Amino acid sequence: MRVRVLGSAAGGGFPQWNCQCPNCGALRRGKIKARPRTQTQVIFSPDSKVWFLLCASPDLRQQVLAAPELAPPADRPSPPIGGVFLPNAEVDSVMGLLHLREFQTFFVFATRGVQCVLQRENRIFGVLERANPPVKWQTLSAKGRLGCHMSEDSSGPADFICATVPLGGCYPDYVSEEMLRAVPPEEASIGFVIEQSEKRLFFAPSLSGSSAMWKSEVESADATLIDGTFWSDDELMRTGRSSKSAREIGHVPLSGPGGLLEQFPTKGKGRKILIHLNNTNPILDEDSAEHRMVLDAGFEIAYDGMEFEL
Ligand SMILES: [Zn+2]
Repeated sequence: MRVRVLGSAAGGGFPQWNCQCPNCGALRRGKIKARPRTQTQVIFSPDSKVWFLLCASPDLRQQVLAAPELAPPADRPSPPIGGVFLPNAEVDSVMGLLHLREFQTFFVFATRGVQCVLQRENRIFGVLERANPPVKWQTLSAKGRLGCHMSEDSSGPADFICATVPLGGCYPDYVSEEMLRAVPPEEASIGFVIEQSEKRLFFAPSLSGSSAMWKSEVESADATLIDGTFWSDDELMRTGRSSKSAREIGHVPLSGPGGLLEQFPTKGKGRKILIHLNNTNPILDEDSAEHRMVLDAGFEIAYDGMEFEL
């Protein structure tokens, strides 16, 4: 399976349009050794022909245009995008669906809870139904395994498996109280294990800390793309971006007691790659001590254009 990172930043990207934190300010002035990054978007392909999207990033239009493999082939009117997997209903994960609205049909894989939030409470996503045939919603359970096919004909053996892993966490702030009472909490945020030919890719861009089920997946994955949003729990407060801690907005920080670096299983042999990096995160500065520390701990740091084969 081929995997490409089209975007590696958290919400807002890097730099963020309204942010003057040390990272964003220095990047604008050319005073930092760091790469600009668009918002988190990963694509994978079991056969290098049909591609699937993990997340639907707010930057999806520019990301698709920059990925020649996603362009419609000369002999066919439709692009080789088989489907989109949504890990949660956060704006950063779903807004890109609106970029895919041009009368195109494809599969959208999401939990029932995420589907309810998008379909019943956010009517703008109804534009996806204008395609003929309309977009096909596929229901994922918070913990399960789904055989997936690359073609419309799903009678043969699955081309790959998508296993789902509950990551804890909450539904986004914009979801109404009434909807929150109606949707299962465990369906708010899930990770994906994509399995093909005995290779496993684990994608978990948002670790809340309230579930530890991600740990066993890390141990068996050949590559893990995991939540590297914040370095420290008080990062947003110190940079004046928010009065909330990293944990309060659903992300275990990398450093400190109970942080990802401390919790990460030592048994796993696969590549461990940090993704969904917030613009305030000091690991973005390639000359920083924090950048060096994560590399020394055996992690890679995702960047836009990163590509690998499993
Ligand atoms: Zn910033």
